[in-house]
Amino acid sequence: MGDTPSSHDNGPVAEVTFEAGTTMDRLHRAGKIRIGTKFDQPGFGLAGPDGKPTGFDVEIGKIVAAELGIPAAGIEWVESTPKVREEYLGTGKVDIVVATYTITAERLERVDFAGPYYVAGQQITTRTSGNSVTGPKTFRLGTKKVCSSTGSTPAKNITTYLKDPAAQLVLFDVYTKCADALRAGQVDAVTTDNVILTGFVAQHPEDFKLVGARFTTEPYGIGLRKGDHRFRAFVNDVLETIAKDGRYAKAWTGTAGRYDPAMPEAPAVSRY
Ligand code: GLU
Repeated sequence: MGDTPSSHDNGPVAEVTFEAGTTMDRLHRAGKIRIGTKFDQPGFGLAGPDGKPTGFDVEIGKIVAAELGIPAAGIEWVESTPKVREEYLGTGKVDIVVATYTITAERLERVDFAGPYYVAGQQITTRTSGNSVTGPKTFRLGTKKVCSSTGSTPAKNITTYLKDPAAQLVLFDVYTKCADALRAGQVDAVTTDNVILTGFVAQHPEDFKLVGARFTTEPYGIGLRKGDHRFRAFVNDVLETIAKDGRYAKAWTGTAGRYDPAMPEAPAVSRY
């Protein structure tokens, strides 16, 4: 306790008060927040043996909690796959989602986003040997299978390169299942954001490699229940603050930065 918003630490801010009736006040008084994140993505959100996730998204989530005066122990982490993120925000199963979550016009119809706080790009991973996929255009031949996650932007984007989507696209709820399918030879490639693939390749460099360049832009936002403008403004304020005070850089260095040491520049938040 006793940390201030300007400290480079993720401890809760000691003395914060919020206007009655706001989401900030409700969460602050409860001393608890439910944060949706990924549980299977090294560098961004990966659950450890104790069930607690670690990663860049997890650090960003902890900072938002800290700014609400909520300690890490007050966070309930909820695994939130692409298929269920909007649903979980809509039903209130989670208060926020920090989960490699691309801001898209389609999703903005159901949820709101603070941020962006990071910009990734879609890429492709193949097996290190015996594989002739060199980039998305390889799939135009119609012979190669690719795996992605149900409800994700990469699953949608890749279909424009597929001759026969029904035969070529294999979907699972989580990317680890895609990695298993790739290792087993059931698919020829996995496609999703570069940072997610980088984590898998770093963990299994003998099995997997990245091929081709990034071919989309994926601005990551913090998913929020639709219409809560005060809360969105608050989270945007937090993102702007940590981009300047060193906490953003520290969050990166200790997590995804172990796979990609190039320090990202925090993008300007969009206050729509
Ligand atoms: N950023 C992409 C998306 O939001 C892919 C990563 C993910 O599945 O979370 O769909």
